[in-house]
Amino acid sequence: MSEFLTELRRRRTFAIISHPDAGKTTLTEKLLLFGGAIQLAGSVKGRKAARHATSDWMEMEKQRGISVTTSVMQFEHKDTIFNLLDTPGHEDFSEDTYRTLTAVDSALMVIDSAKGVEERTIKLMEVCRLRDTPILTFINKLDREGREPIELLDEIERILSIQCAPMTWPIGMGKRFKGVYQLYADAIQLFNPSHGDRVVEGEVIQGLDNPRLDEILGDQADELRMEIELVRGASHEFDKKTYLAGKQTPVFFGSAINNFGVLELLDAFADNAPPPQSRQARERVVEPDEEKFTGFVFKIQANMDPAHRDRIAFLRICSGKYVKGMRMHHVRIGKAVQIANAITFQADTRTNIEEAYPGDIIGLHNHGTIQVGDTFSQGETLKYEGVPYFAPELFRRVVLKDPLRAKALQKGLQQLTEEGATQLFRPLKNNDLILGAVGVLQFDVTAFRLKSEYNVECVYDNVPVTTARWVGCDDPKKLEEFKRKAFDNLAEDGSGYLVYLASSRVNLQLTQERWPDIRFSATREL
Ligand code: GDP
Repeated sequence: MSEFLTELRRRRTFAIISHPDAGKTTLTEKLLLFGGAIQLAGSVKGRKAARHATSDWMEMEKQRGISVTTSVMQFEHKDTIFNLLDTPGHEDFSEDTYRTLTAVDSALMVIDSAKGVEERTIKLMEVCRLRDTPILTFINKLDREGREPIELLDEIERILSIQCAPMTWPIGMGKRFKGVYQLYADAIQLFNPSHGDRVVEGEVIQGLDNPRLDEILGDQADELRMEIELVRGASHEFDKKTYLAGKQTPVFFGSAINNFGVLELLDAFADNAPPPQSRQARERVVEPDEEKFTGFVFKIQANMDPAHRDRIAFLRICSGKYVKGMRMHHVRIGKAVQIANAITFQADTRTNIEEAYPGDIIGLHNHGTIQVGDTFSQGETLKYEGVPYFAPELFRRVVLKDPLRAKALQKGLQQLTEEGATQLFRPLKNNDLILGAVGVLQFDVTAFRLKSEYNVECVYDNVPVTTARWVGCDDPKKLEEFKRKAFDNLAEDGSGYLVYLASSRVNLQLTQERWPDIRFSATREL
């Protein structure tokens, strides 16, 4: 096999989806610990420490400065190269979080065993579903008292509408947590709490009938045997095809903080998760093993390193090979660009790379010409699809302090919203400027950058808007009627598309019921 194919097939590009505090950061550290971390886990901790800082800009700069390097983490395990794309959570939750999911081939869902399926997970799962992204599940914190495992699987199946296939099964929980049974290897991995970077392998007992099990577990051994019989009868068997189709999730149990269950997870990931997949462009489907380079930008991040006040565009390679110094075609603006200094994320410092393969992420220096959703090729006119805008859930009216700066404000907002972390809406009924975001920190970031980069001071007012939907209709007459009747709730987004701004979920629902011919869409293609 050619070197190119070998490199391509051993890549796994993924993201973690979870609700805050389920253990994403901890699990990330452990994955980097078990996998030969090409990037050090320390930087994840560094980021975590900075996370609870106030929204004071200098702190934010530090925090986000670090996160440029932790945005993509590469590590190796079982001859497989993993690209883990960070999905910003907590305060820095934003559209980037959603859009990152459009750049992965699979996802890892982390669930807190005491809490089950939580709200953020539901939302992230909806985004994964847009592309039927395969999902592996890790149920975390088994060292604490949690809910019954069978109940958790039921909940995942019911709320997330995906089949669960348990791969391991926990033996007890909390104080009685003894380890996991591996359903397919018929082996018991005993729990051995080990914090920090020390990895202590617990004893492995082969076979559920092994008398050694009774010696160690006592009464819990028979309990386990009965439970497993039940589980085997009542749950789905793992089926790789169904998993790859995004219809079934293999489930692992463990405790990230104790390094327990992580290795099994990683092994299964290497064996089953998909390598870089083909991808739909407007013109055609592109296969990852095509010789010519193509890729798309899924996120733009202000570069907070004061020495380089530019922005970094994160490009996912979809086909071909990136070689340092190569010429790329920036499709939207129709220009050739020479890329001499793309950055990679293979070390704890930013280094320039020589080459990169499908599934890898490279960072392009951007001085304002690159937008989220842009496609780069080696000459072909190609536009990748599936990098949408998502309907914001938070809205603020922008109030200018100095009315003479209105022009600068417009320009600043236009450019900042093109980066994609916030969206701009102009109501049809007045001259308001309404900013929408999915994470609250983005408002502060925008206000700060308006001041520092455009010398515009503004504050925010609340507006009675809770969600937005892009509006469309095949019948122009119906649409006109809708525009007249719903005039007060309609706005144009930054690209001139019509948007319905709803004051509440109920309002949205009633409007949808009243106008069955109108399409209300929660995403809009870039
Ligand atoms: P994130 O917000 O999803 O990134 O979650 P963190 O990784 O920061 O974890 C949230 C909290 O749960 C932290 O206090 C962790 O120490 C704790 N935690 C993570 N994994 C485990 C686990 O396996 N067991 C227990 N008991 N606590 C855990």
